[in-house]
Amino acid sequence: MEQTFFIIKPDGVKRGLVGEILTRIERRTFTIDHLEVRMASEELLRKHYEDLVDRPFFPQIVDYMTSGPVVIGVISGNDVIQTWRTMMGATNPKDAVLGSIRGDFAQAPADGGATFNVVHGSDSKESAEREIALWIGK
Ligand code: UDP
Ligand code: MG
Repeated sequence: MEQTFFIIKPDGVKRGLVGEILTRIERRTFTIDHLEVRMASEELLRKHYEDLVDRPFFPQIVDYMTSGPVVIGVISGNDVIQTWRTMMGATNPKDAVLGSIRGDFAQAPADGGATFNVVHGSDSKESAEREIALWIGK
């Protein structure tokens, strides 16, 4: 069964959206295989976002992602990687369609700021395996 890795980011946790987001996952008939609350370290985030580390806005991403606890997890189901990306919506909430998590719960970033977009999801099978190993180690 295909698995993907997800994060409810600090804005989602602070705003009390954990239940809403887990409900959407369960309603979609995906199985929650792993669920955990934790603080992300800069060291871990540098590995997680290895393709963004050299971008000028990376320090803002670190500030954002370490601003409070995150909920991390693994979910499984048919085509869960692509389906979860669709459920999340586009990276910039201004482009995210209504009905998606980002389209329902977030707004476009302020100029020069990080994009507070509530959730993360792996973008491919390779990313999912890499991220599960990195965060959970299995
Ligand atoms: N991000 C940002 N500004 C940008 C691009 C990305 O703050 O210009 C943040 C945003 O929170 C995004 C994360 O970095 O979700 C990872 O970026 P990616 O392009 O991988 O988007 P995602 O896969 O999360 O949709
Ligand atoms: Mg990404």
